[in-house]
Amino acid sequence: MKTQVIGHKMFIGGEWVAREEIIEVRDPKDNSLISTVPKASAEDMLLAIHAAKEGAKIAAAMPVHERISIIKRAAKYIEARHETYATIIAREASKTIREARKEVTRCIETLEISAEEARRINGETIPFDQMPGSENRVGYYYRFPIGIIAAITPFNDPLNLVAHKVGPALASGNAIIVKPATVTPLSALLLAEAFIESGLHPKILTVITGNGREIGDPLVMHPDVRMISFTGGLEAGLDITKKAGLKKIGMELGSNSPVIVLKDADINEAVESTVSGAFWAAGQNCLGVQRVYIEESIFYSFTNAFVKRTNQYQMGDKLSELTDMGPMITEKEAIRVEEWVNEALQKGANLLTGGKRNGAYFEPTVLVDVPEDCTLANEEVFGPVVMLYPIANLNAAIEKSNAVNYGLQAGIFTRDLEKAFEAIEKIDVGGLMVNDSSDYRIDGMPFGGVKGSGIGREGIKFAIHEMTEPKVVCFKLSKSYK
Ligand code: NAP
Repeated sequence: MKTQVIGHKMFIGGEWVAREEIIEVRDPKDNSLISTVPKASAEDMLLAIHAAKEGAKIAAAMPVHERISIIKRAAKYIEARHETYATIIAREASKTIREARKEVTRCIETLEISAEEARRINGETIPFDQMPGSENRVGYYYRFPIGIIAAITPFNDPLNLVAHKVGPALASGNAIIVKPATVTPLSALLLAEAFIESGLHPKILTVITGNGREIGDPLVMHPDVRMISFTGGLEAGLDITKKAGLKKIGMELGSNSPVIVLKDADINEAVESTVSGAFWAAGQNCLGVQRVYIEESIFYSFTNAFVKRTNQYQMGDKLSELTDMGPMITEKEAIRVEEWVNEALQKGANLLTGGKRNGAYFEPTVLVDVPEDCTLANEEVFGPVVMLYPIANLNAAIEKSNAVNYGLQAGIFTRDLEKAFEAIEKIDVGGLMVNDSSDYRIDGMPFGGVKGSGIGREGIKFAIHEMTEPKVVCFKLSKSYK
């Protein structure tokens, strides 16, 4: 497969292969057909695992300089085709072309960092003589690759979130089997193309296209698969965790992120960041701002400015440079969001703007007075809907922020250092942004959540740590030479 021939084949067992059964890949804007990919079967998955077993041995034996060169070449390959990659993201997924370009740039960054981190996978010497009787022993530990990694990825960042698993896996000498989201397989296939064209041994990487519920079990339950690196929703994450058996598990799950705005904050900056954080990728963003807690004395001025800024958002054609927000990933998802909003309105919430659906498009929506027993107040909406709440003080905001089963990232806007530190200590999340919304991430930072938001961390160096194990080496000498 080359970039001009999009789709049609998956990369499995070292070859681009087709299957009679296919999956149609459709543009969510109007459901038009973009491409087709093979619908893999459980047998295909076993074939992929069999090839990956050989791939794992080849990957582990590959010198670090070779891993670095291949990953760097793959990054360059993508850089040279930046617009092609961005256009595929903007067509198969929900992102606008401007959002998609940022994702491609970040994917290149993810791969470049992976190449750099490959040379920093270190161990340590161990002072064995801390134990009486071990004075004659010297040794160290080093980190070794764990073997085959299963990467199961979501639709919302269909390229960079795959790169966040493939880059660290290859940097640390593992083989990897990627199962991308059924609705967005093309970006992952393009990533495989970049690696294969860059000289990666084809058995080290598989991208297998198919339905998660059908080909997921043989992948996650297979004893030869040593780690599952999953990014997706809580429900699928729980299901996989129950089935996985004795293997490593990394779970990057969802959230309904809170942002606190105190009265001493720069209101304009807080409005700009929280609006962008709420509606980026039509709200289909694990870091998306869902709940904003605003100190009472500035609630009305903040709310007015927030609604005014929201109303400036242009929803429309993803490929237009002028569009700020595209459709949701499917009409079914947009209908779900509509139902959640209607439930909140029936229970007493008030709509300040938005709330209407047209096919897969759902307007940027702002709600106030959302009762605590609504689905929206507790679950991850994963759509362009945000709730604004007045709060009496920081303590009340912290309590509300923690009152859900998620904890990925949060934000606080304040100029008061003491209050910022109190929030840092007391909000249960994997990352807290001071004077920014929850929607901030660079690819080299540790990334992951607590509670229903997951287990473990990504962010290349941290993913490499999860994808390797320490091996202890101890030499027993005839006597101590100290
Ligand atoms: P999803 O429905 O959970 O699907 C994610 C992936 O899991 C897809 O490839 C899916 O395959 C597969 N899958 C589903 N059920 C499975 C099962 N039982 N066994 C094995 N695989 C299974 O999530 P999504 O709708 O694509 O993505 C949205 C979710 O991802 C949100 O909750 C979002 O917050 C989360 N997310 C988290 C992060 C993070 O880093 N924390 C980043 C981005 C997104 P199919 O497509 O074939 O169903």
